[in-house]
Amino acid sequence: MKLLMATGNPGKVEELTALLAPFGVELVCLKDLALPADCPETGESFLENSKQKAFYYQRLSGLPVVADDSGLEVDALGGAPGIHSARFGGLETHMEKRRYLLDLLKSVEPEYRTARFCCAAVFFDGRTYLSAEATIEGFITLAERGDKGFGYDPIFATEWDGPTTAELELDVKNRISHRGKAFQQLLTLLQQHSVFEK
Ligand code: IMP
Repeated sequence: MKLLMATGNPGKVEELTALLAPFGVELVCLKDLALPADCPETGESFLENSKQKAFYYQRLSGLPVVADDSGLEVDALGGAPGIHSARFGGLETHMEKRRYLLDLLKSVEPEYRTARFCCAAVFFDGRTYLSAEATIEGFITLAERGDKGFGYDPIFATEWDGPTTAELELDVKNRISHRGKAFQQLLTLLQQHSVFEK
């Protein structure tokens, strides 16, 4: 079975490829099919945005599609950047976004630097629609650490004194992350609906 992952983000493709290993599914991404990553994201939640992407790319490709929408909620910023994580501060690179966030939090004490990654994952094949949502709770660190992962990983840690998610091996991050958990739940639903079988 060929499955399209509706993303242009290689970090996400790598994460889902690892999770799909036991299922004998061929995962392709937008670039593989020369599809532009131009789906409008006008939803007001992670779930609305991921559903919008799954339906849009299913219609374009004719393939079963998995889409996700994810982001970082920082409590001291009232939940920002949230669904705007990829465009935070209107900045281009993630290095700039991380520095901007660290600067916004520079006078915030450790106990108030709580944050979470959130993810909604959706499957749509033109008939069956399934969805799952998950979060991972943690803290925004005082400085960047680690070079694995992507996005805000170098400044997010699940324990104040623990490693950032950019210091974790991919399989460890996959087991505990918002996207890892949302995709695991979605894979379970796909098996229950006999879309995927091991
Ligand atoms: P999306 O591609 O629309 O889901 O936007 C996700 C954005 O949220 C990314 O560009 C990152 O800024 C952030 N993000 C989501 N998941 C992660 C993660 O696992 N690590 C680091 N940043 C993440």
